[in-house]
Amino acid sequence: MTSPCDPIAEQLAVGEPLTDEQQAHVTRCAGCARLAGVPGLLAAAAADPEPGPGFAARMQLGARARLAERRRNRVIATTVAAAAVVLAGGVAVTRPDRAVTVGAVRTLDEQEPVPQPPPVVERGAAAGEELVLDLVRVADVDRALEGAAPWGEISEPMLPYRALLASRRARKGADR
Ligand SMILES: [Zn+2]
Repeated sequence: MTSPCDPIAEQLAVGEPLTDEQQAHVTRCAGCARLAGVPGLLAAAAADPEPGPGFAARMQLGARARLAERRRNRVIATTVAAAAVVLAGGVAVTRPDRAVTVGAVRTLDEQEPVPQPPPVVERGAAAGEELVLDLVRVADVDRALEGAAPWGEISEPMLPYRALLASRRARKGADR
């Protein structure tokens, strides 16, 4: 004979009503009685008074502030990454010049792209941070994030760009 406790536990878990027979078992079985008490506890918790007035508004304000902060951090990170790319590009551009002056013969060691420290080290980490903050300030993050650019007022004609495209296409055709 199987225990009636398991189906009772399942039915309590999914919130289905018990049969009369099962109700009778619950009054006799300590384990099932304890289980049957849990939904009652949950219901009591759910019946707690509503949060005070203004709670939702405060929640929204807090969440919005946190979102804005996260966005700003992302912009700063992007700016730092862009600055790093610019510095790396500068290093890559200046490197070949030096190698060429050495002579026509280059060792494998020279050709190996060696990562170099950024050339602004003497300014210090604080100066770098200041620079990034200045860039962010100049970029007017809030306005840029709102998409406030006056797209409707921008009326630069596409003609020069079309001409450029056409010339490129013509050159490609001539190469073939
Ligand atoms: Zn039981």
